[in-house]
Amino acid sequence: MSSPTAAQAIARPSGGPLDDRPLTDAEVHALRIDFPILQTEVNGHPLSYLDSGATSQRPFAVLDAERTFASTLNAAVHRGAHTLAAEATEVFEDARATVARFIGADESEVVWTSNATEAINLVAYALSNASLGRGGAAAERLRLREGDEIVTTEMEHHANLIPWQELAARTGATLRVIPLDDDGALRLDVAADLIGERTRLVAVTHVSNVLGVVNPVEDIVALAHGVGALVLLDACQSAPHLPLDVRALDVDFAVLSGHKMLGPTGIGALYGRRELLEAMPPFLTGGSMITTVATTTAEYLPPPQRFEAGTQRVSQAVALAAAIDYLTTVGMPRIAAHEAVLGRRLVEGLRGMDGVRVLGAGIDRPRVGLASFDVEGIHAHDVGQFLDDLGIAVRVGHHCAQPLHRRLGVTSSTRASTYLYTSEAEVDALIDGVAATIDFFRRGA
Ligand code: PLP
Repeated sequence: MSSPTAAQAIARPSGGPLDDRPLTDAEVHALRIDFPILQTEVNGHPLSYLDSGATSQRPFAVLDAERTFASTLNAAVHRGAHTLAAEATEVFEDARATVARFIGADESEVVWTSNATEAINLVAYALSNASLGRGGAAAERLRLREGDEIVTTEMEHHANLIPWQELAARTGATLRVIPLDDDGALRLDVAADLIGERTRLVAVTHVSNVLGVVNPVEDIVALAHGVGALVLLDACQSAPHLPLDVRALDVDFAVLSGHKMLGPTGIGALYGRRELLEAMPPFLTGGSMITTVATTTAEYLPPPQRFEAGTQRVSQAVALAAAIDYLTTVGMPRIAAHEAVLGRRLVEGLRGMDGVRVLGAGIDRPRVGLASFDVEGIHAHDVGQFLDDLGIAVRVGHHCAQPLHRRLGVTSSTRASTYLYTSEAEVDALIDGVAATIDFFRRGA
């Protein structure tokens, strides 16, 4: 967009890529002007949006990118020969390159999907098809048989659990689960026993969407690769908040969702190590993923197009690239530092309150700006309702992580989650709001 955004205005005066100072209050307030929804009111109060873990808000740069594409370049990609189609294809592929750079991958290793859920299912169904003998000799190494094991953890979002349950059911493989300790930390000692010569794939989340803590991915990767197993990283809650380098982490697959990182809904991405994508049979089939088609057979394009059947989500991909440009202009290290400050403030403020239990508060690991808590004697839905009346948006329920909640002895919790546009004052208002909720319900009791 032609007018400079607040992100550009605050972009690293020192110019150094390693600038990891937390954002100042003035910078956060400047950034907020780029987000129209943050200027609105809810229930008579200025909106305090503490639900970015569910979906993030979009700056003008992202909204404008989608509109500009639709109003000046809209055409189907990789199909037409006319000028508009060629230009649309170019910006679509530029957007892929932007995602690849953002996560340290090659553009041939980035597959567009609708969201992270679809990206995980893509891998699960490709392995399933390989197990049926599809994909020929190249896919043989991906074949799962009875006796093979898939390993995941007790803290996964359902999106990184149910596809593996289904894959196990389809192939006869066994699903094994790394348990948590009472605080919600992964039991690495048990993981070391679980991950063995039968393990073919380990699927783990980088950052828990309930606890906000960063998992020791390097340790899990070392265990998995030590026995020749593949690793799929659920980067849904890390890619938006931390610098992410899939090669440095040495994972084989990683997934992300655009709507959690300032982008639109309907767009996500799968990273796959090139030689793995080359060996994988497709998940969805149809137009755009083929070279030659006869009535009873077809040959497929190499990755990433092999996995992109049908008309693509072009304006969403272009808008996600605009979101990534926005994030990198501010600087991922600065965003991570800002959120670490907010995360600590959130946890310290909440755990000091009588009757409040912060899930995973004791885990000694870096965290993002996200915390879930249980208030003794008050249902999470009541907490959420009370906060909503104050204009504070939080998530309540099990956050698509029922096994984790069950393990920690609760059925639901209240989750507050921040982003680069969240101010310290909003975190303080949330803590005051929880105190007011407790006061209200205890007085009424
Ligand atoms: N994994 C994690 C850790 C998440 O937090 C989420 C969304 O909340 C997902 C996966 C699924 O993302 P989506 O619903 O965008 O596919």
